[in-house]
Amino acid sequence: MAGNITLTMIKPDAVKKNYIGPILKMINEAGFRIVAMKYTKLSKEKAGEFYAVHKERSFYGELVDFMSSGPIVAAILEKENAVEDFRKLIGATDPSKADEGTIRKLYAASIGENAVHGSDSDENAAIEGDFHFSKLERF
Ligand code: GDP
Repeated sequence: MAGNITLTMIKPDAVKKNYIGPILKMINEAGFRIVAMKYTKLSKEKAGEFYAVHKERSFYGELVDFMSSGPIVAAILEKENAVEDFRKLIGATDPSKADEGTIRKLYAASIGENAVHGSDSDENAAIEGDFHFSKLERF
């Protein structure tokens, strides 16, 4: 059964370019409810922990440096079929391959600096939600 939450991060590139507002507008208009949200910055250590699954990949160092390079917005989003529907809304990892009208097509510059994160499974949505938020921070 599909779960009803996903975890997103508006990444440092999109924050720097003042895209927080437009991206949140798209998230709201697509029918997601914000359960939890914070403006924060990941240390290198925390970014490394978040992306530990990619530790062996060639781009891991670059990814950790990028994700700790500036503030991000982290949020838990709720909607039926949240993980899959949010992946559709954000588009492909590489913005040049993302569908028209998706967040990455509109706001991302490259495969590395791609504006937003979205969980890839219900299991990871739960793990990533717990990474950023306590129970008291969810409404
Ligand atoms: P996602 O689930 O669409 O975010 O993609 P992945 O799980 O495959 O990769 C996680 C993140 O690593 C991506 O969102 C990118 O920020 C980064 N990434 C993936 N592939 C590359 C790459 O080839 N080069 C660089 N620099 N970063 C990458």
